[in-house]
Amino acid sequence: MALPIGVLALQGDFREHAATLDHIGVQHRLVRTVEELESVAGLIIPGGESTTIQKLATMFGLFEPISEKIRNGLPVFGTCAGLILIADRLLDGIEGQSTFGGLDVTVRRNAFGHQSDSFEIDLDFAGLDTPVHAAFIRAPIIESVGPNAVALATLPDGRIVAAGQGNLLGISFHPEVTGEHRIHRLFADLVKRAI
Ligand code: GLN
Repeated sequence: MALPIGVLALQGDFREHAATLDHIGVQHRLVRTVEELESVAGLIIPGGESTTIQKLATMFGLFEPISEKIRNGLPVFGTCAGLILIADRLLDGIEGQSTFGGLDVTVRRNAFGHQSDSFEIDLDFAGLDTPVHAAFIRAPIIESVGPNAVALATLPDGRIVAAGQGNLLGISFHPEVTGEHRIHRLFADLVKRAI
C-alpha cells in the first residue's frame, strides 16, 4: 500500500485499532492534524464518545477537512462512535451534535438500555465465511439504511449493526477489542482498491 491508513487519535480506543492494523501487517499512522490527514489513504474513526470526538475535531480544525475528504471518496471505517460520526442522520444526539456524514443511514445513539449497555455476540457479516465475535459497548444501532447504503450485519432480532456504501464502512460494535481482525482486513482491501 502506497500510503498508510490513518487512525483518528483524538479520543477513544484508537490504540486498539492501531494494534489490530499492526497484527495484520498494515502500515498506519495516528491522525491529529490536517497535515497528518493529508498523508493517509484511508481513515479509521474509533469508538469512544462521539460528542467528544466531534468537539476535539472542531478544535483541531479537522471537522470540515474530514467531512470534505469523505465527500471526495476517502475510504473511512467507523466503529461505534465512529459509525455515529459518519452517519448522515442521527437520533438521540445531544443538543448541537453533528456528524461528518457520508453514510446514508440513520443511527440512534446509546440504543441499548442500561441492562444491556454492553454485551458480546457472534454475528454473520457480509463477505466473511464464519461469524464475527462482536462486542457492543454503549453502542448505537442503525435504525434505517437509505437507498445508497447496504446493511452488512444484523442482530438476531433483525436490527442492523453494520452498513457499507462505496468506500465507507460503519459498524456498531468493536472488533478491535475481541481479536477479530477480518473487518480491518476488509477495510484495508477497500483502501488498496481505492488507491
Ligand atoms: N455511546 C458512545 C457515543 O455516543 C459510543 C460508544 C462507543 O463508541 N463504544 O459516542
